Amino acid sequence: MARKIRKKGLREYSKEELLRELGERLADEKFHDGMTMSEMELAAEEMVRRDAAPPPVAAMLSRMKPEKPTAKACPRCGKRTPVKARDRERTVKSLAGPVTFQRNYHYCEKCQHGFYPVDRLLDLPEEGELTGELEKRVLDFAVNDVYGECAARWGLHYREPVSENLFRRVAARVGEQCEAADQGRLQEALKPREEAAEVLVVEVDGSMLPIRGQEPWKEAKVAVLYRHDQKAKAPIPRSSRYVAVVNGLGEFAPVLEEALEVENIDEVGKVVWVGDGAVCNWTLADQLRPRRVQILDWHHAVEHAMDCAKGLLGDESPWLPVWQRRAEQLLAAGDPDAVIAEVMDCVPLVPRGRGQREMLQAIEDLVRYYRANAQRMKYRLFRDDGLPIGSGAVESAHRHVLQTRMKRAGQRWAIRNARRMARLRAAYRTAGARRFHEAIRRAHRDTFTRAPRARARRQHFRYARYGTRDSDRCERAASN
Ligand SMILES: [Zn+2]
Repeated sequence: MARKIRKKGLREYSKEELLRELGERLADEKFHDGMTMSEMELAAEEMVRRDAAPPPVAAMLSRMKPEKPTAKACPRCGKRTPVKARDRERTVKSLAGPVTFQRNYHYCEKCQHGFYPVDRLLDLPEEGELTGELEKRVLDFAVNDVYGECAARWGLHYREPVSENLFRRVAARVGEQCEAADQGRLQEALKPREEAAEVLVVEVDGSMLPIRGQEPWKEAKVAVLYRHDQKAKAPIPRSSRYVAVVNGLGEFAPVLEEALEVENIDEVGKVVWVGDGAVCNWTLADQLRPRRVQILDWHHAVEHAMDCAKGLLGDESPWLPVWQRRAEQLLAAGDPDAVIAEVMDCVPLVPRGRGQREMLQAIEDLVRYYRANAQRMKYRLFRDDGLPIGSGAVESAHRHVLQTRMKRAGQRWAIRNARRMARLRAAYRTAGARRFHEAIRRAHRDTFTRAPRARARRQHFRYARYGTRDSDRCERAASN
C-alpha cells in the first residue's frame, strides 16, 4: 500500500486508509522482539498522542473566521464596546499541548470590565493558563489530594507535567469563584432544582480545621440536606446537597439558606432538622424554617445519660452498661421524663462530703439538657413515622467532605485557602467529579452577566438581615 500511495496521490485515499497505513508504518518502526504488553501499550499511546494524529487543535483554531475589529456587546451591561487593544496574544495549555492565538481586547467604561470576545466564544476560563478541559482535570486532582501528591499522580496519567504550584493556583482561582458566585445559582448549577421533597432532612454540625497563625483551629460549619423516604425509612440515594463554610455562623447561615431555597424549603411537606444539642443549630432551624420537626441526635442523647452516669458512678464502674441499657430503653420508648425521674431518684442517694457537689451537678446537667430538648426526643414517635433519629449523615460528611482533604497529618491551612477548599469540597461532593467544575464556572459567569435571580424567599431571615450579631453571641456562648 505504501507504494500505491506514492503513485496515486494522498487525496485519493480515504481517511481510514491513510490512518491504517500510518498505523502499519508506526508499528513497523516501534516494534522490536521481546516487547512486553506494557511497552506496546505505551508505544501505542505515544503514537496516538504524538504521531498518528498530530494535535489538530491549532489547525482548527486557525480555521476560525478572522475577528472583526468592530464594537462588541459588553457581557455585563450589553452596551456595544469598541476594541481597546488589538491582537493580544494568549497561550493556554490544552489537552493537546500548548496553543497560542491572538484576539482583541474590549473594555466597557460603564462596568469597568475588560473582556475578550474570542475567549468567550471559545468558552475559555477568563483567567489562567489552562483550557477549561484541562482546568477541570487539574482541579479534580487538586480537590482530592495534597498538591505535592497531585503533581506526582498527574505524571502517572499525563505526559505534560503540572507543577505543584499550578494545582495550588487552580484551587485558589476556582475556589474564589465558588465564594464569589451567587450561592443560589451555584446550588442550582451543582444540583438542579426539583419538585419539593415530601420529607427533607437537614443536619448541621461544626468541626475544627488546622489553621496557620495565632489561632491554630478554626471551625468549619457543614450542612447536609437530603430527601428521605418515610416508607423505606431511608435516605433517597444521590439526593444529598452539602454546604461547608469556614468563618462562622454569620457567613454559613446565608449560604445554607440559599441551598434550602433551591430545595423549595417553603413547599416541602415535612422538614426534619436533626442535630446535637448545640443551641445555635436550633436557633438557626427556627429562623430558617419555623414549622419543622426537630430531632436531637440519638447518640448525643445517650451520651449525655452516660456522662451523668460516669459523674455518679465513676468512669470505670461495671454498672455503666446497665445504666446505658436502661437509658436507651426509656429513650426508645419516647420518654425522656422517665429518665429524668429515675435520675432524680438518685439525688437522696448521693453521699455527703467529697464529690457531692460534682455528682449533683452531673444530675442537674442531664436534667437541664433533657428538659430543654424534650420535644426533640420523642424517639418512638419519630421511629414509627419512619424519620431518621441520628445525625450520622453530617458526621460522615465531616469526614468525606472536609477531613479527607483538609485534615491530613502535618497540614496547616492559610485561612483564605481553607475557606476556598471547604467550598470546593462541598461543591465536589454535591455535583460529583464530572459536573462540579462546569457548575462553578457557569454560576460564576452568570452571577456577573445575568440579571439578579428572582428570590422566592425575601431573605426574611435574621442573620442575613441584621448582620452577624446573633451568631457571634451564639458562638461565644458555644465556646464558653
Ligand atoms: Zn458594560
